[in-house]
Order: sequence, then C-alpha cells, then structure tokens
Amino acid sequence: MSEYIYEVKNIKKYFPIMEGFIKKRKVNDVKAVDDVSFNVKRGETIGIVGESGCGKSTLAKNLMMIQKPTGGVVEFQTEDGMKDITKFSKKELFDFRRQVQMVFQDPYSALNPMKKIIDSFNEPLKLHGISDEEGRLNIMEDMMKLVNLQPEYLYRYPNEFSGGQRQRICIARALLVKPEVLVLDEPVSALDVSIQAQVLNILLEIQKKMSLTYLFIAHDLSIVEYVSDKIIVMYLGQIMEIAKATDLYKNPVHPYTQALVSAIPLPTVEKKSKRIILEGDVPSPINKPSGCPFHTRCKYCMEKCKKEKPQLLEIEDSHSVACWLNNK
Ligand code: SF4
Repeated sequence: MSEYIYEVKNIKKYFPIMEGFIKKRKVNDVKAVDDVSFNVKRGETIGIVGESGCGKSTLAKNLMMIQKPTGGVVEFQTEDGMKDITKFSKKELFDFRRQVQMVFQDPYSALNPMKKIIDSFNEPLKLHGISDEEGRLNIMEDMMKLVNLQPEYLYRYPNEFSGGQRQRICIARALLVKPEVLVLDEPVSALDVSIQAQVLNILLEIQKKMSLTYLFIAHDLSIVEYVSDKIIVMYLGQIMEIAKATDLYKNPVHPYTQALVSAIPLPTVEKKSKRIILEGDVPSPINKPSGCPFHTRCKYCMEKCKKEKPQLLEIEDSHSVACWLNNK
C-alpha cells in the first residue's frame, strides 16, 4: 500500500478560447494549471497558496474530478491500490465522491436557505445509502456535536445562524459521509478574524479525531502556516516552491515566496522584517511570459529567466524550487 493518498503527475487544465461566429475555431488556451506534480500523504495537510488566478481552485476541482484534467495523471488510493481518477468507472467515481468532500469559501451560498439543516444533511446520507432514518439522525447529531453546535439546531434554517456557525454546519455536512479527504477552499476567508481561529481549531481537532487528509487552499500564507504540514506556492498555474511548512517560513527560497512571506504580519513590533512589494500585476494566463512565469515581476531576473523555464528541483529534503538562482 502506497504511503500516499494522492499522487499527482504532470496535471494540466487548459480552457480553450474559441473565436468565429458560425464556425468556431480554437485560437488559444487559458492554461489554468500547467504541469503540476506533487504527492499527498494520508493524514497530512497540504496548503496550496497563491494570488487570485494562480490556478489553486482549478487544481482542487481537478483533484475532485469536478473538472476533468486536460492532461496528466491523478492517482488516488483505493481498496485496490492507486488508481487514476480520470479513468474511474461511474461506480468508482460515485465512491470517490464520498471519500473526497469539499468545504467552500462562502458559507452563505453553500446552504439552501429554503431547507432546514436536517433536510440538507439528509440528502448526502440518503444518496450514499447510509443507515436507516434513526441511524441517520444519530450521525447528524454526532456531527453537529463534533463542530460544537447543539443537535437541536438541525431543525433551524440557515438564516438563523452567524457566518462562523454556518461554516461549522458546512464542515459537519461534509463529514456526514465519513470522507477521507477534505478540500477546504478558503474556508475562513469570508469570516471575521475573531471567528477564523475558532473554525481553524475545530478543523484541527476533527482532523485528529477522524484521521482526515486536508487540502487547504488560501491566498494568505499566514492562515496556511497555522494548519499545514507542507505548502505548495503556485503562480500562473505552476508550482514555484514546495516545502514543509516550517522550512518555507524560515527559509523561503523562491523570490515569489519571499515576497509572500514578507507580507505576513509579525506578532512583535521589534521583529518587523522589510516587506517586499511586488511590482505590477499577475500576467494573463492566456499570454504567459516566456521562460520563468515570474520573470516580469522578479527583481533578480536574468536574461536566461526570460527565455528558459526553470524546472522544479529538490534543493534539500522535501524542499523543491523552480528558480534559476538555485538551478544553475
Ligand atoms: Fe526570478 Fe529568474 Fe528565479 Fe524566475 S528564475 S524567480 S525570474 S531569478
């Protein structure tokens, strides 16, 4: 049995750009995810970070088969060993969808305002044929307790809850079918800062209790630092750096990661480090820069960076970087 729950190899997701009124023809691609490879161990948390449009949410959708990758292989640990999810049969895909659940950024739109929580919870349990009526009620009550909410709240409507409570309800709903992986797409970004830590703590507690694997997507490095074992930094659909969380914060190597780390507020005034301000905007994923995708904003840019793309290379144990400064 592989130590990994996911093995992602050279995954790509391109969206074609079509032109023409009567006869459509493809003129280009939006390369949302472009040749990304990494592994995920069972029980660990992988943080996936980058600015808006870097491809992190598209990557998550591909790992869940909400969108099918254009190329590459996404292997997932099944009872019969590692299997490529892009080649799953209907039955395998149905089982896979139970094992990998998602929590969305906006807890307000994630719950149907017309349905009581108990009705929203019953749906996935019935869909997957889990238990009888009494058994389902027990599961629902247990999940409410797990996220520190009273079981009586099952009989209320979403508009009777605060943002933090709604997000805890969304987490409970994702856990009903006993998944192995939770994909958390910016799960605390829409919440007040005071509530964010509360929800993150609940997620950490649940992970321990249920031995879950988390894929935690965020645009803010300070949030993933708190929860992640390993962090992937993405830029224009590609991985710039991947490292253990502690290494990444202590020793960010890629110039883009250095800029992101410098933007994290520090708890003490004395220890203030100089913030690196990135010039310009993220280039369009339709016309990506040649060579290193970051070269248009990098203060260390060399001639070589404009022409040749650096490969993601391991510079020390579990720490890989795609930059010519470390890849001569
Ligand atoms: Fe900067 Fe060149 Fe490294 Fe890209 S490869 S991050 S442009 S130094």
